[in-house]
Amino acid sequence: MLDVARIRRDFPILQQEVNGHPVAYLDSGASAQSPRQVLEAVRRYYETSHANVHRGVHTLGERATEAYEGARARVAGFIGAGDARGLIFTRGTTEALNLVAYAYGLRRLKPGDAVVTTIMEHHSNLVPWQQIARLTGARLRFIPLRPDGTLDLSDLDRLLQGARVVTLTLASNVLGTINPVAEIARQAHAQGAIVVVDGAQGVPHLKLDVGEWDIDFLAFSGHKLLGPTGIGALWGKPELLEGMDPFQFGGSMIGRVGLHDSTWAEIPARFEAGTPNIAGAVGLAAAVDYLESVGMEAIRSHEEELVDYAWRRLGEIPGLSLHGPRRPRASLISFGLDDLHPHDVATALDSQGIAVRAGHHCAQPLMEWLGCPATSRASFYLYNTLDEVDRLARALIETKEFFRDAAI
Ligand code: PMP
Repeated sequence: MLDVARIRRDFPILQQEVNGHPVAYLDSGASAQSPRQVLEAVRRYYETSHANVHRGVHTLGERATEAYEGARARVAGFIGAGDARGLIFTRGTTEALNLVAYAYGLRRLKPGDAVVTTIMEHHSNLVPWQQIARLTGARLRFIPLRPDGTLDLSDLDRLLQGARVVTLTLASNVLGTINPVAEIARQAHAQGAIVVVDGAQGVPHLKLDVGEWDIDFLAFSGHKLLGPTGIGALWGKPELLEGMDPFQFGGSMIGRVGLHDSTWAEIPARFEAGTPNIAGAVGLAAAVDYLESVGMEAIRSHEEELVDYAWRRLGEIPGLSLHGPRRPRASLISFGLDDLHPHDVATALDSQGIAVRAGHHCAQPLMEWLGCPATSRASFYLYNTLDEVDRLARALIETKEFFRDAAI
């Protein structure tokens, strides 16, 4: 059992009122809030250790390098990666997925090769592969969905024929579906394909082990796991990364530079051109420390309780439709309310201090599958409470009544 009251005291932003109500922050799926331990780690870094990394021979440069490389080891450990050389800091999931698409896909794919993905992907795991397919002549193939929003794997063997890359999300940011990534990885490897996982919605909530799951690449974002914005990571199997050329070019990623030609640094530096987000990495490591001090399993069971309760409470509201599978599900729920526009719903909730997201959630092909242009989405994290779910349910009923009365 989490001591949520104590946890909430660590989050300064949750202590305020929004529109005259205590804020109920139900939008962690977009960006989670940071505890003061993260904010303090970033501040401490700037106050005591800031300088550029890897280059300075002076003391502050060494401290900054130590902080940055220490953060790499810490974040690698969080996802079960024994060898921290496989952990490349990026701006976030989007940049990490583009890195794989360009540094691996563009160089390896040939006309006729298949990239297998799903129709529930966030645009950041779809659009880069569309571009690579266009540039290489490879084709995209899509794993379809069953009516409940889980993957229909009945035809996977056929879809995997000729596949070089299988890329999919661990958890859908709209449906909440948690995909059987390890099982898909087994089948994909049997066909000779590598497996890329978008962990943006999964890594913050599920204890995972890249070694045990035997995936090849994992992308995730710091700002969804209590860390700062502008920092995230791509983890890749070191033996794959070692065989890859860089994605971006410039300082820090070179071996030797001549006027007409250059050689590359070893991994991970090869994939980190330019001055990295050092403070962001320090903040991300502090976020990982915080999550582990609370305990990922305890966080997961708390979220399961919240999401289960929310599913029940929201499901009782006439005219409210819930999207995605009942269980297991990630810590979020997408819904529609009568024929109200999700933006109107989100605005009405905001007037009561309740923050939810509304829109297509960067998943337009999935919206088409759902048959609606947008949904509202409530997403939960370790600091949310059952009381906030009750407030959400009550506010939705009031919103419904308000719009009904306004229509008379
Ligand atoms: N994939 C999924 C499933 C997401 O939910 C998100 C963020 N909404 C992303 C990728 C992109 O993450 P970022 O914007 O941090 O790069």
